Amino acid sequence: MTDFTATRDAFHLPDGMIYLDGNSLGPLPKRAVARVAAAMQDEWGEHLIKGWNACGWMDMPARLGDRIGRLIGAEEGHVVVGDTLSIKVYQALAAAIKLTPDRRVILSDTGNFPSDLYMAEGLISLLGPDYELRLVEPEEIEAAITDEIAVTLVTEIDYRTGRKHDMAALTAKAQAAGVVTVWDLAHSAGALPVDLAGVQADFAVGCTYKYLNGGPGAPAFIYVAPRHADTALPALSGWLGHDSPFAFDLGYTPGAGIARMRVGTPPVVQMAALDAALDVWEDVDMQALRAQSIALSERFIAGVEATCPDLTLASPRNPEARGSQVSFRFADGYAAIQALIAHDVIGDFRAPDIMRFGFTPLYLGEDDVDASVDILARIMRNRLWDTPNFKQRKAVT
Ligand SMILES: *Cc1c(COP(=O)(O)O)cnc(C)c1O
Repeated sequence: MTDFTATRDAFHLPDGMIYLDGNSLGPLPKRAVARVAAAMQDEWGEHLIKGWNACGWMDMPARLGDRIGRLIGAEEGHVVVGDTLSIKVYQALAAAIKLTPDRRVILSDTGNFPSDLYMAEGLISLLGPDYELRLVEPEEIEAAITDEIAVTLVTEIDYRTGRKHDMAALTAKAQAAGVVTVWDLAHSAGALPVDLAGVQADFAVGCTYKYLNGGPGAPAFIYVAPRHADTALPALSGWLGHDSPFAFDLGYTPGAGIARMRVGTPPVVQMAALDAALDVWEDVDMQALRAQSIALSERFIAGVEATCPDLTLASPRNPEARGSQVSFRFADGYAAIQALIAHDVIGDFRAPDIMRFGFTPLYLGEDDVDASVDILARIMRNRLWDTPNFKQRKAVT
């Protein structure tokens, strides 16, 4: 059983702030400060170039990959960390499409995050005019998995509404149709239990700065199923994915297994922060986390629906069909979120009218949910959002 009081204490949150945006950027794990300082002063400062060997920098992508792998049900030695999620999407997609040479269609849905779709478009523009990115409504994706499809590129949890796809069912259907699956776990890793090995996913990718709390710009991760690990080609064939990078061969020979999914020099300082963030997860039971996340989300929905008649639930009502976030629609949602932020309740806004709130049991309790409902109710009742400065759009929403 996880004691969430202990994990709560592991994070720094500014005094008085209620942070409902851990689905976008997790808060600072206190121990990351000392860990990063040590990486800079003791490792970089004292060891300089020797640090690659002496401080284990070169092994960090695989070591951190395994720490994340335990949270997403991956086999040991099949997850590696590096680059950003958009890059990892491209890599997984390129590798996956090579595994189905007779097929030409990448299938995704309109609930996917645009960067995933943009990366697919970019890949297709290189593959040639025979290839197609096919988009269907999220509810139609299962029916659209046919033996015409090469690869599915699906994000398990919708970034706007929190709607959750049935990974086991979609993967099984894909496998029966000879389709390779690429799962994006951006809003799943650290949000709910994931069982990559159990559902027999082919590829998975995700980021570490959302629910995993690795910090702004923390590197992404990629999973390749053991059955593909030595055949999948990484497309982005950088030197650190080479079989022997320090032989400096002129030609590329992919490394063994997941190592080939590495590209270039890993971000050591950022990985030090991620390493510290992953310490917090050591004793977390993902089932307990899920139960608590559902309890918090249900409490928030009930509170908002009882006090804010102008807001309409945009997330599925069934908690089993949601991730760890809850969204409401409101035409002036942008202004309402700005007003909330001015009252130290941090949520965010996604166009056109989605007010989004993430529930992360590691550092949020029922008291936070109740306080945020009270503040939101007051803002809505008194139209505190209805001022020109709250309607002025900033660059990052
Ligand atoms: C957050 C998110 C991204 C962001 O990609 P970056 O390259 O890390 O900026 C991509 N895809 C999905 C589904 C996301 O939720």
